[in-house]
Amino acid sequence: MRFDIVTIFPAMFDGPLSSSIIGRAREKGLLEINVHDLRKWTYDKHHVTDDYPYGGGAGMVMKVEPFASAVEELKTQNPGAKVALMTPGGKLFNQRMAQDFSSLPGLIILCGRYEGVDERVSGLFCDMEVSIGDYVLTGGEIPAMVMLDCVARLVPGVVGEEASIVHESHSDSLLEHPHYTRPAEFRDARVPEVLLNGDHKKIEAWRREEAIKKTASVRPDLLAKAVLTEKERVMAGDFMEKARRRDGDERA
Ligand code: SAM
Repeated sequence: MRFDIVTIFPAMFDGPLSSSIIGRAREKGLLEINVHDLRKWTYDKHHVTDDYPYGGGAGMVMKVEPFASAVEELKTQNPGAKVALMTPGGKLFNQRMAQDFSSLPGLIILCGRYEGVDERVSGLFCDMEVSIGDYVLTGGEIPAMVMLDCVARLVPGVVGEEASIVHESHSDSLLEHPHYTRPAEFRDARVPEVLLNGDHKKIEAWRREEAIKKTASVRPDLLAKAVLTEKERVMAGDFMEKARRRDGDERA
């Protein structure tokens, strides 16, 4: 899969995109990631990418022309790619979107700065606006890295053991069960007995119950979309009730 990122701070991507799983996948040719300096598509002496906002107000707005030229050129090199503008006003990114994007031939990701980007960039040149959360960062670079990392690890072959990406948090609207490794006993905390006895049916059942318990206690909003049996729904309801009581006690 090919990613093209457009930013005025290309150096921010150096470390994260050359280390660990993403770095190795690039070396193997599973991912092609190109980071472009938006200033390459400016044609004035000072390579200006922003200007004062129409209507007044604080801060600067990123200009439409450099992004327009960038997208037009990159689309010829990355055919079939979708274009995403990172913005806190966009659709909230989630694991489902990451799965959908991972089957695309490519993504072109535009990073904003300052007060944001001229609205015509999104209107004329983007397929989607994406937010990584209900908070505001200084620029689109970290959001672009977050999105790229999530999508890239779902590209076949990028994560060594495919099974490890099948049952993880958010893939089925449940948070993942807890994990343990050696030693079996650390201070007073012992690994749950069921994980030590080698009975895989019991281990699966325990993991499923723990996933429901964790989701019900921490992110009950996710349960509405989870596929649960009748028995599991009742169990989830009990866990939610316990979490509500615990939170109530803590606040009191
Ligand atoms: N004035 C904008 C607003 O209130 O929506 C915020 C602009 S923000 C300071 C500058 C840039 O950071 C944005 O154009 C966007 O590219 C990026 N950014 C900030 N928070 C983000 C988020 N939660 N998700 C995606 N991009 C974000």
